[in-house]
Amino acid sequence: MRIAVIGTGYVGLVSGACFSEFGTETTCVDLDQTKIERLKKGEIPIYEPGLEDLVAKNAKAGRLNFTTEIASAVAGASAVFIAVGTPSRRGDGHADLSYVYAAAKDIARNLTGYTVIVTKSTVPVGTAREIERIVRAERPDADFDVCSNPEFLREGAAITDFMRPDRVVIGCESDRAREVMRQLYRPLYLIETPIVFTTLEASELIKYAANAFLATKITFINEIADLCEKVGADVHDVARGIGLDGRIGRKFLHAGPGYGGSCFPKDTIALVRTAEEHNSPVRIVAAVVEINDKRKRQMAERIIDAGGGDLTGKTVGILGVTFKPNTDDMRDAPSLDIIPALLKAGARVKAYDPVGMHEAEKLLPGVEWVEDAYKAVENADVAAILTEWNEFRALQLPRVAEIMNRPVLVDLRNVYNLADMAQAGFEYHSIGRPAVL
Ligand code: NAD
Repeated sequence: MRIAVIGTGYVGLVSGACFSEFGTETTCVDLDQTKIERLKKGEIPIYEPGLEDLVAKNAKAGRLNFTTEIASAVAGASAVFIAVGTPSRRGDGHADLSYVYAAAKDIARNLTGYTVIVTKSTVPVGTAREIERIVRAERPDADFDVCSNPEFLREGAAITDFMRPDRVVIGCESDRAREVMRQLYRPLYLIETPIVFTTLEASELIKYAANAFLATKITFINEIADLCEKVGADVHDVARGIGLDGRIGRKFLHAGPGYGGSCFPKDTIALVRTAEEHNSPVRIVAAVVEINDKRKRQMAERIIDAGGGDLTGKTVGILGVTFKPNTDDMRDAPSLDIIPALLKAGARVKAYDPVGMHEAEKLLPGVEWVEDAYKAVENADVAAILTEWNEFRALQLPRVAEIMNRPVLVDLRNVYNLADMAQAGFEYHSIGRPAVL
């Protein structure tokens, strides 16, 4: 079997590399010429642990190819995966499907023989049927089916998530297409991964419902954390106490600065819009969106308060800017709200992130980027951990206290334990736990 993957971003590149690792001949296509040229040289345009080796191995074996030419990639392919971006549409928050539909037209023009067109991108209910219509209009003669196969991988653990997923969801309404999809995911059958075959609509909705549920869980524990601070409870105890109940589950109960990233913010809003359109509101998700937006601003206030309320002439040292560790992805990172608010409050901001600075520089003007955590906190009046990179979990606390103007740390990821911070002489503010003063 030979497949094509359209779009070589976080999802397309990882999916393409993993399918080729499964033994399928895969061609990855992108419009971005620079990206493809780099990939051909073995350079990986994103930071994702393990990806470089996986791409190198499969490219060397001749199973993984890169091109900007969609025609050669699509012609003769058994399946073509659409893995282009579906960002929020400016103005209304609907998923912007222009890249998906443009890819569908490109695919249509180049179809030869029976092909399964698969949406791997996160797309709202109805998109697969619209793609079917677009392709049919463009190529009435073409022999094809459309499937929905949403991706659940997490950046930073993308390869393991793809190779050992909790489940694979496939929306598919023809036996022929089901057989192609079954073949492609055969290695996962062998490790007994549940494969959920559904209708197109159910499959599309599963992806949004899953992300909205996870975003709700995070937002829930964030509000409980705020309450913990008021009543003198520790949110870690509460999260553990509820999470050990199998009906609730322990994951995604880490209080923090609010969810960010390339998926939850846009997907929650898009689900709210879809629900409104169908006159079937998802009020819980709408509340989650609103609470999460406010939370990022509240986080900036915490740092400003820790700095004494007025940051004019003061220095804030920022540790971590990506939306989570092990990725260079800056999309909708809380830092993008927090840091501008600090600058507006008059602060001089020094920041360090292990891999995100290159991307962040373009998005956060006015920040001084430094080469390590200690340089970021040196002479700072307040330091703040925004991303829980491993290297921020093991700072030499006495050294940090010594080189700061005042040892004040605002830890939005609850990396440290209260007793250690008290012992190291810090004023320490975290989330959902008593402050150390
Ligand atoms: P991305 O922005 O990193 O990559 C998209 C790529 O598609 C870009 O390289 C772009 O140049 C390319 N592209 C756009 N139009 C094209 C066209 N017509 N032909 C060829 N290439 C084209 O996006 P991403 O983060 O990989 O996300 C892709 C989709 O997967 C989105 O719908 C997203 O919601 C979903 N998703 C993302 C993640 C994640 O963690 N990033 C996880 C699950 C699902």
